[in-house]
Amino acid sequence: MFNSLSDRLTTTFKNLRGKGRLSEADVDATIREIRRALLDADVALPVVRAFTGRVRERALSAEVAQALNPGQQVVKIVNDELIGILGGETRRVHFAKRPPTVIMLAGLQGAGKTTLAGKLAHWLKADGHRPMLVAADLQRPNAVNQLEVVGSRAGAYVYAPEPGNGVGDPVQVAKDSMEVAKSKLYDVVIVDTAGRLGIDEELMRQAADIRAAVDPDEVLFVIDAMIGQDAVATAEAFQQGVDFTGVVLSKLDGDSRGGAALSVAEVTGKPIMFASTGEGMTDFEQFHPDRMADRILD
Ligand code: GDP
Repeated sequence: MFNSLSDRLTTTFKNLRGKGRLSEADVDATIREIRRALLDADVALPVVRAFTGRVRERALSAEVAQALNPGQQVVKIVNDELIGILGGETRRVHFAKRPPTVIMLAGLQGAGKTTLAGKLAHWLKADGHRPMLVAADLQRPNAVNQLEVVGSRAGAYVYAPEPGNGVGDPVQVAKDSMEVAKSKLYDVVIVDTAGRLGIDEELMRQAADIRAAVDPDEVLFVIDAMIGQDAVATAEAFQQGVDFTGVVLSKLDGDSRGGAALSVAEVTGKPIMFASTGEGMTDFEQFHPDRMADRILD
């Protein structure tokens, strides 16, 4: 991912670095190339506009004009602004002062929620927590079963009282799970919810009801990095529907062009917290905006 964007920016900057002085025309030529590279990487147009606007303004400042190596300064500005659109500082999970901490997952079907539930549990266990998974996706017949599979891979208990074939009340299951967690002393509860292929009002309402019932400490919106230009509309719909607190990018191991990663945090104002990079329990990492910017500009 980001390979093509990274190559294009590297070429642009190679030309820039050699220049002793930068005219406004040089800056504009660079901005045009950055703009084209971002659009080709599927970054949403408003994000591209805002990004290039900020880079241009800073690149034309007196500070850059007087710098020993103005080209290098512009590269630094692009790096800073990339970190900015990726969310700035690394955002860590907010744990509840009094356990259990509740983490709810939301996103389209196939985004990678169930897999993420297992990965989170695995990651939390390694950190000394006692996570519990809750099957509040009763829509897909196989969803409960799938959660049980990832739960056993992660070595985490799965609360799933319903068979998961469209029957049962996911809101009640989520509510009941809180009592189970308290009585069995699980300190983190991860609630998996149903997703549809498209945005679906009924399921969005169900997710909002689950949110209201469990009062989560974190609501993670899981988005497939391959989704491309649909990323913004999908993220906005989920922001409105469940008011998520953080984003998880999944399938970063695929050959996506990276647009979703570069659009979602900027458009929603919510930080990217984790990245999923495969189907295995350990293919998962905390998201660090600065490291991602380095990867893009290396
Ligand atoms: P859900 O419908 O949102 O619960 O999505 P799932 O967790 O069932 O994932 C959908 C498919 O994507 C499954 O086949 C997963 O194995 C796969 N998957 C999930 N996360 C990743 C990832 O980070 N990388 C890759 N390559 N595949 C993933």
